[in-house]
Amino acid sequence: MPIHGQLFIGSERVATESTFPAVDAATRQALPGEFSIATADHVARACALAEGASESFRAAPLETRARFLEACAANIGKLGDELLQRAGAESGLPRGRLETERGRTMNQLKLFARVVRQGDWLGLRVDRAQPERKPLPRSDLRQRRIPLGPVVVFGASNFPLAFSAGGGDVASAMAAGCPVVVKAHPAHPGTSELVAGAIVDAVAELGLPPGVYSHLSGPGNELGAALVSHPSIQAVGFTGSRQGGLALLALAVRRPVPIPVYAEMSSINPVVVLPAALKARSGALASAFVASLTLGVGQFCTNPGLVILIDSPEAEEFTAAASAALVNAPGAPMLTEAIQANFDRGVARLSATSVVTQLGRGKESGGAAAAALFSVQAVDFLNDKHLAEEVFGPSSLIIRCADEAELMSVLHKLEGQLTATLHIDETDYALAKSLLGVLERKAGRVLVNGWPTGVEVAPAMVHGGPYPATSDGRSTSVGTLAIERFLRPVCYQDFPVDLLPEELRDGGALRFRRMTDGDYPQG
Ligand code: NAP
Repeated sequence: MPIHGQLFIGSERVATESTFPAVDAATRQALPGEFSIATADHVARACALAEGASESFRAAPLETRARFLEACAANIGKLGDELLQRAGAESGLPRGRLETERGRTMNQLKLFARVVRQGDWLGLRVDRAQPERKPLPRSDLRQRRIPLGPVVVFGASNFPLAFSAGGGDVASAMAAGCPVVVKAHPAHPGTSELVAGAIVDAVAELGLPPGVYSHLSGPGNELGAALVSHPSIQAVGFTGSRQGGLALLALAVRRPVPIPVYAEMSSINPVVVLPAALKARSGALASAFVASLTLGVGQFCTNPGLVILIDSPEAEEFTAAASAALVNAPGAPMLTEAIQANFDRGVARLSATSVVTQLGRGKESGGAAAAALFSVQAVDFLNDKHLAEEVFGPSSLIIRCADEAELMSVLHKLEGQLTATLHIDETDYALAKSLLGVLERKAGRVLVNGWPTGVEVAPAMVHGGPYPATSDGRSTSVGTLAIERFLRPVCYQDFPVDLLPEELRDGGALRFRRMTDGDYPQG
């Protein structure tokens, strides 16, 4: 499928006079092709089309919606090598990583097709009428969840496939029955257009209204701001910087009708290594830590940016082994020049902080980002809130605590996180238990004896967490629970059967699990 550099307003391909280039992440040179820049008029057209499609999309049979998601996955697969090559050029990510990411993208669309068919997301509840109840009779109450309406999804720079034009936010919003308008990330416009074309084709194949999916591009904040401000838009999915997420949140609450923004923003993912685990395997832990830190040039929101240890000879060994492993880590270009500049600024800030010791830098080569490892005493960390700020990329800070009490103070001081990790042996269990209460309050996912990079797309996954990890810690952006962000409950009181939605009728053709009078049926 050729890349035209055009917008998709529903099924219509639109080219504009003013364009922007795509950039090769490795060479920072322009790639072939120019990409259209959407204007306010395109925003208005895409949003009006999405609003127009809302009713028929949500009313279409759930089997059609499920097949649509499967067709999106199949069409993305059919893009073949061209998609991987383009994504590789625009992101600088290696082919193996992109193959895995494409698999994840297709699998999460297929997983959401299963979710749609299974129907638990409808949240069906029935409280049957009790006309004889004294002193007052009870009405017949029936509840289901309905889609919010059109959703804007911002493509993420660090996941050109799995969190962009056909990624997790798009899949979960469409599974909920919401039309989607994508704001492509300017770092990978060609990749985004290819995926968008696959989804637009799937819309047509299933006979759905074209407004179910539009795809707009353009660098600069105006496009995203116009989309979030448009009255037809009912929710926002975003992955990126804290600054960007907060700007969109501010816009969303200033609208005449405020809307929810599900922004996944910044996390430093603390890893706590407890004494017995450190004693048993400090060297192995150090090399596994550096592998996780430098994976994908550290461009994961779950990157381990903080390691917390209690001072001991083994803590010294861990620190020395991690520093030695890091020095051999090869440098690589980051996704964009701006992201690399942010990384360099963050590393320079840590290097210039007097209480921070630089333990090592990875290999420098031709403008690539060299990994960085620092250490600080807990008492100094507690006195400087800037040391807890995310440095997006392969940079991490080891905090050395004098004792358990200081370790607890450090954990209390942390902001909200996507993940928190404990490395433990059996004799650490008592201490681990005493830390769990604070870790659960701080993070969306707590891991034992693993590394936070690598997020399984599964029903029990939480990729969320308290602010600033996300703007709304009650949900997740990865895994099937993500669908709930784009739904809202409606109660139907004393409805005649003929007016009830099919899935809420007793003995209706659509049979999904439902709570009746406060209980789920046995078996
Ligand atoms: P970003 O600057 O937040 O941009 C993400 C998307 O939001 C882009 O499409 C951008 O569009 C749009 N946007 C940003 N600010 C906006 C605003 N004020 N109004 C309207 N739209 C806005 O993120 P990025 O480009 O991916 O990377 C920049 C930095 O974000 C990184 O250096 C890193 O610190 C952080 N980041 C964090 C994570 C994470 O998972 N924690 C992931 C990726 C990036 P335009 O650029 O076209 O305006």
